[in-house]
Amino acid sequence: MSQAIQTSAKKITVLGTGTMGAAIARNLRKKGFIVSVWNRTYEKAKALAEFGITVHEQVQEAVSGADIILTMLKDGSAISEVMDSALLGLSKGTIWIQASTVGIAANEQLEAIAAENDLTYFDAPVQGTKGPAELGKLIIIASGSLFGRHIVQSVFDAIGQRTVWVSEQSGMSSRLKLALNSWAFALTHGIAESLSIAESLGIEPSLVIDVVKDGPMDSLYFQLKSAAIMAGNYDPSFSLDNAIKDAELIVEASKSAGVKVDSVEAGLKRWKRAQQAGHGSKDMAATYFAKSL
Ligand code: NAP
Repeated sequence: MSQAIQTSAKKITVLGTGTMGAAIARNLRKKGFIVSVWNRTYEKAKALAEFGITVHEQVQEAVSGADIILTMLKDGSAISEVMDSALLGLSKGTIWIQASTVGIAANEQLEAIAAENDLTYFDAPVQGTKGPAELGKLIIIASGSLFGRHIVQSVFDAIGQRTVWVSEQSGMSSRLKLALNSWAFALTHGIAESLSIAESLGIEPSLVIDVVKDGPMDSLYFQLKSAAIMAGNYDPSFSLDNAIKDAELIVEASKSAGVKVDSVEAGLKRWKRAQQAGHGSKDMAATYFAKSL
């Protein structure tokens, strides 16, 4: 591993400016980092230039001279593909914060790419969706070597409210992220089903929300998702397509570990029905539509 990492490292490149990556890039810029970005669809990233962020058309150019890169792309195969080109522009010793949700096997592959190319790799998926990402209030679930942590911590402080250091061993954060998503998914399907059960039984669904409010089952998540479903607002905070990808990662990892995940599998079936009906780009709360599909 290169010892070239300096505490003054400030140049960061975000690869992937979707829902999460764009918000992360803006917060890094706000906190004083020199930020470059690259996105597969250049048009979607262009507006970030208004925030003082350099938007590149070529990934190799985007990462050239970076002290740190942060990947926030859909999945492991997208990241491998992008890194194939990025590697041509990267210097040895660059820190790589891998923040997308990729699961266990893909994380191992990405860590191997980092090792082969002398990059310092951090397995750092995030907890929190579009709102927290925009407010710089993500929770970073980080694993990686002690070396370089003081530098990545400054990145995490710029984009998150809290960092949970899980392990020195990469892969442990990706494992924890799967467990956390299982809980988020159970909540999402549970809210949608509760509202649709009420409706189908002739009860005004807002009564479900009224009864839960301020009681032990209430949460900000319940309030936000139930309000969105009631309003028919499915602007994606976390797209249904990406939720399917993550539910499949949970099922695969759990099978290998010998644990049954009936509720994740049932939820996955609901999302697939909704996806087939054309709801894939909507928020994962569009599981609501599965009630009649
Ligand atoms: P998103 O809005 O769907 O953005 C996905 C990003 O990946 C876009 O930049 C997209 O580029 C890029 N991409 C997809 N396929 C690609 C490919 N084959 N090659 C190159 N680029 C590709 O997703 P997001 O919500 O920002 O999530 C990003 C990651 O964070 C995912 O792993 C997700 O599971 C995870 N995550 C999301 C949330 C959330 O609440 N949204 C929370 C925690 C973690 P284009 O713009 O060109 O399509």
